[in-house]
Amino acid sequence: MATYKQPCNQCGELIDRDSRVCPKCATKNPYGFSCPKCLRTIARGDLACAGCGKTLTVACPLCNGQTFVGSSRCDACGRSLMVMCENKKCGVPQYFDNTKCTACGKAVKDGGKKLMKGKGSA
Ligand SMILES: [Zn+2]
Ligand SMILES: [Zn+2]
Ligand SMILES: [Zn+2]
Ligand SMILES: [Zn+2]
Repeated sequence: MATYKQPCNQCGELIDRDSRVCPKCATKNPYGFSCPKCLRTIARGDLACAGCGKTLTVACPLCNGQTFVGSSRCDACGRSLMVMCENKKCGVPQYFDNTKCTACGKAVKDGGKKLMKGKGSA
């Protein structure tokens, strides 16, 4: 039986469509969007998280445009909004506004600042 593959929302790898966890980056719910605060599933277009009430649009640290928290790229400027997890053994890219790594659970700190620092390089 052919398995259809779809890119993971988090890392972009093509993975099986029935995956619950991305085998490449260990993100749970690889096809959905997760609230950066409580990791509850959210949908593009939602204004606030049903779980914790977090506003689901954020200002992009790179261009200041409004972008949906689930997209790995800024809706306004198209630049990547992912930062590396600080856990060296993990190293999975995380959305800059996440409070916790979706793979290892380590706190993600100052994602916005890291993005600004990495601006220009790769
Ligand atoms: Zn992935
Ligand atoms: Zn939430
Ligand atoms: Zn932007
Ligand atoms: Zn991690």
